[in-house]
Amino acid sequence: MEKTIALIPGDGIGPDVVAEGVNVLNAVAKKYGHKFNYKNVIAGGAAIDKWGKPLPQDQLDICLNSDATLLGAVGGPKWDNVAPEIRPEKALLGLRGGMKVYANLRPAVMFKQLKDACPLKDEIVGEGLDILIVRELTGGIYFGDRGTSADGKTAWDTEKYSWEEIERIVRMGFEFAMNRQKKLCVIDKANILNSSRLWRKVAETVHAEFPEVELSFLYIDNAAMQLVRNPRQFDVIATSNMFGDILSDEASQITGSIGMLASASLGVGGPGLYEPIHGTAPDIAGKDLANPLATILSAAMLLRYSFGLETEAKAIENAVNSVLDAGYRTGDIAGSEREAVKAAGKLVGTKKMGQLVVDFINA
Ligand code: NAD
Repeated sequence: MEKTIALIPGDGIGPDVVAEGVNVLNAVAKKYGHKFNYKNVIAGGAAIDKWGKPLPQDQLDICLNSDATLLGAVGGPKWDNVAPEIRPEKALLGLRGGMKVYANLRPAVMFKQLKDACPLKDEIVGEGLDILIVRELTGGIYFGDRGTSADGKTAWDTEKYSWEEIERIVRMGFEFAMNRQKKLCVIDKANILNSSRLWRKVAETVHAEFPEVELSFLYIDNAAMQLVRNPRQFDVIATSNMFGDILSDEASQITGSIGMLASASLGVGGPGLYEPIHGTAPDIAGKDLANPLATILSAAMLLRYSFGLETEAKAIENAVNSVLDAGYRTGDIAGSEREAVKAAGKLVGTKKMGQLVVDFINA
């Protein structure tokens, strides 16, 4: 298979982790006989420095004309004081809107080897966690009508969803659930919000097409509590933009390290956008300290969802598991065993961690 992948290294640790993602993709291409061509895209702070804007149209076009995009992260203190309309984060909104990716998939997976890093008790997490959050990404209160009154003393934002916007998210939730534990939980605030009541109606309607999937509903406040009280009850969660934003960060914390979590943003037919959930980590940028595994696992999602290469995606995930089984850790996931890991020569940097994954793919 020959495919073109747009690469957006971005800022801070972005370039370090994307470089390792590419090394791993190349190892997969070589082993399984594929050809991946890469096109570099400058976005975020790097684009502000070069052109005075975070995502010039020609850079977005490179993504639109590629088969998938792998992004590191954008932003950092250097651009904290630029005008709001050209902040680095605008590149993310521009990419999501421009690529029409309306669903954000965030697997919250706790690797059993990293159980120590999980803040929850052993009896709560058991042998591990594997939750998939499907978050609506281009609608709801983040995009609804907003304003501030002339005297500056009243402000409003509007949560507005159409049947179609909800249906494509819950349908995706049901489809993923079919290949997992066949459980979908829709999270809302239907005791108060009209828009949430529509989410329930749509979910119940689409459920008729997926009778094998157990559908449940939870209010957002209860869901936030249940995620720390009994996270293993969840398989697939589908929810709105704002609730998904909050819950996916909560879920990432209970899995241990932000350096391990991948994400995918998908639309209909067009190229998907794949990125680690962490930011640019300015405190460790350029020091060979960043954990590249979230980006490497994002590359696995890219192969699975954009190219349909399940075996190759699994090969990456198995290699990551093998590296962890062998005891290798970057600083962020070394936890309380840091000194022992270091003494064993297994406390590694960004580049070495990437190379280890490549070695296990080739093994
Ligand atoms: P962050 O995720 O960059 O860092 C939070 C903490 O986690 C830091 O201590 C950092 O060192 C650590 N960390 C993050 N990723 C790591 C990795 N791969 N390996 C090891 N440790 C890791 O979040 P922040 O500090 O809130 O944000 C820093 C900058 O990143 C800000 O400018 C913010 O706007 C931007 N940001 C960008 C994105 C994105 O591009 N998608 C997402 C979040 C934050």
